[in-house]
Amino acid sequence: CGIVGHVTSQQPSGRTLEVLLEGLGRLEYRGYDSAGVALAVPDTPKVATAKRAGKLANLRAALEQHPLPAATAGIGHTRWATHGAPTDVNAHPHVADGGRLALIHNGIVENFVPLKAELLAEGVEFASETDTEVAAHLLAREYAASGDLTAALRGVARRLEGTFTLLAVHADHPDVVVGARHDSPLVVGLGEGENFLGSDVAAFIAFTREALELGQDQVVTITPDAVTVTDFDGNPAEGRRYTVDWDASA
Ligand code: GLU
Repeated sequence: CGIVGHVTSQQPSGRTLEVLLEGLGRLEYRGYDSAGVALAVPDTPKVATAKRAGKLANLRAALEQHPLPAATAGIGHTRWATHGAPTDVNAHPHVADGGRLALIHNGIVENFVPLKAELLAEGVEFASETDTEVAAHLLAREYAASGDLTAALRGVARRLEGTFTLLAVHADHPDVVVGARHDSPLVVGLGEGENFLGSDVAAFIAFTREALELGQDQVVTITPDAVTVTDFDGNPAEGRRYTVDWDASA
């Protein structure tokens, strides 16, 4: 339902979690039933995640009880359940690759039944009842084949039917967030020494007004200093650059 991403060149800190929670708070108006975050931490083999059914306050309380480590990249999600009840386990992010990657999704994966059957036949274990989790495991499989997170996400985007905005982080790449969109919005927020992603500009308006709206069927890779956009086949592509001019400072 609501999506936020952040990556920074700063030393690992609480900045990324702060950005994600601020963004999720500003996306609350869209309605949601669960919320979660995943962080990538340099020199750490797994991503760190926290997710809870219910209001953002539940996630904040869980984070106070079990603080997450200082990080350099992360993704945050508010879920509006379509497949699987609103429970902690079904909340996003969904992890794969032994906890090394985490993925969030807005929309519906219409062909998740055959994709899930394919993955189950390969021995993949599923934790949730969501349509989304197939995308996390597909990403792990594609990444294992190429070692290239962006190319792996393009491979996933080509296999999915339905509507999606996807964001993912991987423990191997604590300076990267990757995203893809098909019939669902995704906007880049351009910062200095940090960059943002959001399902709408409210996700990052507290931090930057410089935006790059992605076009249909595009994949984006953000690092602290660069934004790279391609189509699903890897051809260079461009988003639409603009400055957000409405007063959202409140
Ligand atoms: N279809 C996914 C789910 O039910 C994503 C829902 C959403 O857009 O929040 O988990």
